[in-house]
Amino acid sequence: MPTSPLARVLAAMENANRHEARPAPRLVAVGKTREAGEIAALASEWTDLRPGTALAFGENYVQEAAAKVAALEGSGIEWHLIGHLQSNKAGLAASLFDWVQSVDRPKLVAALADARDPARPPLNVLIQVNVEAEAGKHGCAPAEVPALAAAIAGRPTLALRGLMAIPEPHPDLEQRRAAFAAMRGLHEALLADHPGADTLSMGMSEDYELAIAEGATMVRIGTALFGPRTAV
Ligand SMILES: *Cc1c(COP(=O)(O)O)cnc(C)c1O
Repeated sequence: MPTSPLARVLAAMENANRHEARPAPRLVAVGKTREAGEIAALASEWTDLRPGTALAFGENYVQEAAAKVAALEGSGIEWHLIGHLQSNKAGLAASLFDWVQSVDRPKLVAALADARDPARPPLNVLIQVNVEAEAGKHGCAPAEVPALAAAIAGRPTLALRGLMAIPEPHPDLEQRRAAFAAMRGLHEALLADHPGADTLSMGMSEDYELAIAEGATMVRIGTALFGPRTAV
């Protein structure tokens, strides 16, 4: 019986993927409000469970991430920006992160591509899609994906890796499943033009097993690893 939250989540991810002929989905641990020490502890447990691979860690805010990236230098963590990115923070984001999952407009593509040091590996980029067309929500419209993908693919300092979505947490699981299935369709269409765009990032603590069953190749999990967030 797996005992730690991380071991339990990894086991549940494998179980959710068991009928699929494809590689195991990737976990991005989400650390909002968590201290560097807690992240370091998770990274060391990760190294025991998955030797030779890097813990992927997601942050919502560029500024908060800057302090943690500095405090955890040398820990081998792969840093993902999963929160909304303002264009004026794109320069800092392009130097701090290995992945930016929240790219949703041409201006941001240009700002990240210009800022990424060409001597470093390309910045991995996901296009964030507002798949249910929710008012006031970040992410591009599904119809905007092909043009954004072409813009990203045209920049050598960026690597187009796929799509990301944060669907509404509908109490009705069938509605969640429909949003995930719509993302899977968009991802398959994208892959036809961009074979390197192998990532579909969707699913959080409450619904990652459903998301994996519907085609997620990457899930982003906070609460199930760290417990409930205290209000800030
Ligand atoms: C907070 C957050 C998560 C993780 O949410 P949990 O429900 O705590 O697992 C995933 N993705 C994004 C974009 C988030 O902001």
